[in-house]
Amino acid sequence: MIIRFAILPLFLALNLSMCKKQENVSQSSQQAGASSPTPAAASTPVAAAAPKITKPVVDQTAQVIIFCYHRLVDKIRYPGTEITPAAFDAQMKQLKDSGITVISMQDLLAWKRGEKNIPPRSAVVTFDDGWKSQFEVAWPIMKKYGYPFTMFIYTEGVRGGSLGGGEAITWEQLADMRDNGVDIQGHSATHQDLREGHTITLAGPGVKRTRTKLTGPQYEQWMQNEVVGSKQLLEQRLGIKVNCFAVPFGNYNEHVKEIARNSGYEAMFTVYGQPITFTSPMDAIGRYAIEANKPKVFEDAVKMIGTSTGGAAAVAEVGAKDLSTQPADGETVRTALPLIKANLSAIGQIEPGSVQMRVSGLGVVPANFDPKSGTVSYQVTQKLHEKSCSVIISAKSQGKKVEAHWTFGIEEGAAGAATSPIPTPKK
Ligand SMILES: [Zn+2]
Repeated sequence: MIIRFAILPLFLALNLSMCKKQENVSQSSQQAGASSPTPAAASTPVAAAAPKITKPVVDQTAQVIIFCYHRLVDKIRYPGTEITPAAFDAQMKQLKDSGITVISMQDLLAWKRGEKNIPPRSAVVTFDDGWKSQFEVAWPIMKKYGYPFTMFIYTEGVRGGSLGGGEAITWEQLADMRDNGVDIQGHSATHQDLREGHTITLAGPGVKRTRTKLTGPQYEQWMQNEVVGSKQLLEQRLGIKVNCFAVPFGNYNEHVKEIARNSGYEAMFTVYGQPITFTSPMDAIGRYAIEANKPKVFEDAVKMIGTSTGGAAAVAEVGAKDLSTQPADGETVRTALPLIKANLSAIGQIEPGSVQMRVSGLGVVPANFDPKSGTVSYQVTQKLHEKSCSVIISAKSQGKKVEAHWTFGIEEGAAGAATSPIPTPKK
C-alpha cells in the first residue's frame, strides 16, 4: 500500500472534488446503520442497494495528442503546410496500429470538464484554414477510418470571402460536413497576428486592403471582428455552436486570450505540440502541426503517448466515493466482521478476471465480482483486529489498471468478542 502513495498526490484533486458529491450517500448509509440495530440491515445500507452514479469517473491519467493539418496535395510545393494524401493516410493508419484512439474535439472537452471518459491514449485530428482538399481528399480518408475531426475556419478565407480563392472550401461544403458530424470551429476572420501593434492587412467585404499597425480603440474594434464577429458568422451561417478557437499562427498574449475567453470560447489552440493532460490549461492547448518536410514531428508525437503499456505509472486512481463503497470512506462500523463492497460500474467496462480486493490485515481476499451489477463484495469471516481497516480494489478496464482505496474505522469494542453484532455461523 505504501508504494501507492507515490501516485496519490496526482489524484488528490480528483478525490477532493468528489468528496462533496456523495456526502448524502455516506450519511444515509451511516444513518441506516445507526437506526437499524439488526446486523442484516446494518450491512445492507440503502445507498449500496441502489447505487446512483451522478458523474462518470474520468481517467485523469489519459493523454491526448492533437494534430493540425493544412492542405493535402499530390505534389508538394509548400512543404511547411502541405502533405501528400498517401503520407496522411499512412499517419492515420499508424494511429490505429499504435492503439491510439482518435476522439472528437467535443469528447476531449467533455473529458477536460470531467463529464466523459476517453481512452488512455487518444488523438484529435484538426484541419486549419478551410482548404477544399480537406473536403475532397482528407474527409474520405477520415471516413475510411471512421475518425471524427475538427475544421478550424477563418471566415474571410471561405470561398467568396475577401481572402477565399479557388482552393478555398465553400460554405456549401462546410454545411455538408456539418450535416455529417464534422466539428467546425473558429480560426478568426482574416487569419493574422492578433497581438496589438503587429503589422496586419485590413481585409473584409468592401475594405480596401491596407497594411497597417492598429493600437488602442481601433485595435480593439478590429479584434472584436476577428474573435467575436467571425464566431458569430460561423454560428449563424452554419447554425452551429462554436466553442474552440485556433489562434492564427499560434501567436497570442494574455489580452488575446482574455478576449477569446470573454467571447465564449471554451478552449484555445496553438501549434506548440505537446501531450494534453487532464490539467493542461484550456487557453493554450498545443497541437502538433504536421508538415511534409518534418515527418519526425508526427513520429515524436506518437512516441510521446505511444509507450504506456502498464506499469506503476499507468495505474489510474479512482475516488472511493464514486464507487459507493461499503463501508464508506471514513465511516466507523460496529462490527469486526463487515461486509466490504464497492460498485465498479462507474469505471466502465471491467475485465471480470482482473478484479482483486486487498484488506489490511488479511491480504488478498476471495472477493466476489458480479459483472452484471459491477459489484465486488467480500464478507469478512475473520475478525479484523485493528481500529482502522484499509481496502484496495484493483481492476483492469480498457487494458488499463484502475485502483481505488479507502479506509474505514471499527468501533472500539467491536473487535472484542463480546459485542460482535454478527453471529458467527459456528455458534
Ligand atoms: Zn491557420
